[in-house]
Amino acid sequence: MKSMILFSPEQIKCYMERCLELALEARDDKKMHRPYVGAMLVSGSGEIISAGRKSLAPGLKGFSVHAEHQAIDEGIYDLDQKTVLITTLEPCTSKDYRRQSCSELIVKSGIKQVVFGAYDNSPTCRPHNGEKYLQSQGIKTAYFEGLNERIAKELMDKKYANEFFSKKNIAQRNRQG
Ligand SMILES: [Zn+2]
Repeated sequence: MKSMILFSPEQIKCYMERCLELALEARDDKKMHRPYVGAMLVSGSGEIISAGRKSLAPGLKGFSVHAEHQAIDEGIYDLDQKTVLITTLEPCTSKDYRRQSCSELIVKSGIKQVVFGAYDNSPTCRPHNGEKYLQSQGIKTAYFEGLNERIAKELMDKKYANEFFSKKNIAQRNRQG
């Protein structure tokens, strides 16, 4: 992980674990499709400001509210430039008919630092799109790898998990590591 942010990797792991637990609550929504996502806003001094998880949008069939949206909506009046958004998944760049993408919302909200636990490989987003967009807007981003295996197994769809745990990709990660 690139050096950044006020928190140590141990602290980030702790927040990310809480985001992961939060994301898993989506299992209670029977129609919710993966990936499950959890996110939270953490102040510069380490307090949790707000939290959100991907959830079904009431009254809109098949439509979900993203975790980052929920966390930002809830914490919008308490955030400042030191606030860090921690999320299990790279923020999306896909717009839908009702809401702007999470990446755009992050920029508009004034958040300057984002840590995510996995790249988004969904067809509408493509890995690195969110990261590139956020960086182009002057936001620091960091990919926290520490829980990626759990995120792949517990939150992502089968295709992602199969790719993640394929022999080829494990070998590639080992070479990089
Ligand atoms: Zn999103």
